[in-house]
Amino acid sequence: MSQSFRITQLTVIGVGLIGGSMARALKGSGACEKVLGCGRSLANLEYARRLGVIDVIEQDVVKAVKDADVVVVAVPLGAIPELFRKIDGALKSGAILTDVGSAKGRVVQQARETLERTLGAFVPGHPIAGSEQSGVDASHAGLFKGRCAILTPIQETTPEAVAGTRRLWECIGARVYEMTPEAHDQVLAATSHLPHLLAYTLMHTLLHTESREQIFQFAAGGFKDFTRIASSDPVMWRDICLANRDAILAMLQKFNTDIECISRLIREGDSEGILEFFSHAKAARDQYIVKDKT
Ligand code: NAP
Repeated sequence: MSQSFRITQLTVIGVGLIGGSMARALKGSGACEKVLGCGRSLANLEYARRLGVIDVIEQDVVKAVKDADVVVVAVPLGAIPELFRKIDGALKSGAILTDVGSAKGRVVQQARETLERTLGAFVPGHPIAGSEQSGVDASHAGLFKGRCAILTPIQETTPEAVAGTRRLWECIGARVYEMTPEAHDQVLAATSHLPHLLAYTLMHTLLHTESREQIFQFAAGGFKDFTRIASSDPVMWRDICLANRDAILAMLQKFNTDIECISRLIREGDSEGILEFFSHAKAARDQYIVKDKT
């Protein structure tokens, strides 16, 4: 796949978990000659260079993008518009600009507002891979292998930019899907954003319970499984909530209805109803999740 796909310079803005993993994977695939890392913290960039994740450091974002064949924006969603504003018009002709942000509708809207000269080169993207850890230390080359990468190109995106971004992800083992930004945001609100909110909220509830010391002392494997994602970066998740507000609120509304339903069944001692509720949930998990080993 990588034979005809060559990146002379990849610029990664935000060398953390996702940006660092893309850099490692693309270098490892042999498709990429040089990775330039850009970010706020010189110490982080120097560390990334010592790890071999990036080859060159440039903190001036305009200089960082000007010679790149591909620019990957891998910063928290809240930082994207300012970056777009700075790099608009700074990319060379034929270069691709893509992002990895976890919500797409807002990014597309911001791209339309800020990327006057570079909009055609912009391919909104989101790898469905990651972890509750962040930072370049947690990055690894195999993060995207066998995982989905969703692209949400818009009318203005050139077919060449979409094709190049598709090949980039395929090069590092991802399965690429295309959908609209709206469809992406609805799907992710259900499968990623809602579970993260539930994990954070459960921890919040228990933290404000008087007997919390005892509760946490006896937390077992299931509790750790359920709450693992509450260790995720609060800045990133704040930004996702703000960016995908409507779809998240719609999912929370649906979830509240079901919480009310199970509360009523328990209150009424409805043994059949509780059994049916749990059986449906177990059947759905067995069918859709347990059998899908990816
Ligand atoms: P991360 O590990 O914290 O890395 C983000 C990097 O962005 C940091 O290294 C930081 O470097 C830089 N950065 C942070 N704030 C910035 C700002 N205001 N301006 C410029 N640079 C900034 O985060 P991540 O998990 O890789 O997430 C990055 C993006 O990927 C997010 O948009 C997220 O929605 C998306 N994503 C995450 C996951 C996941 O599971 N974590 C999965 C898919 C997609 P400096 O401190 O040097 O600036």
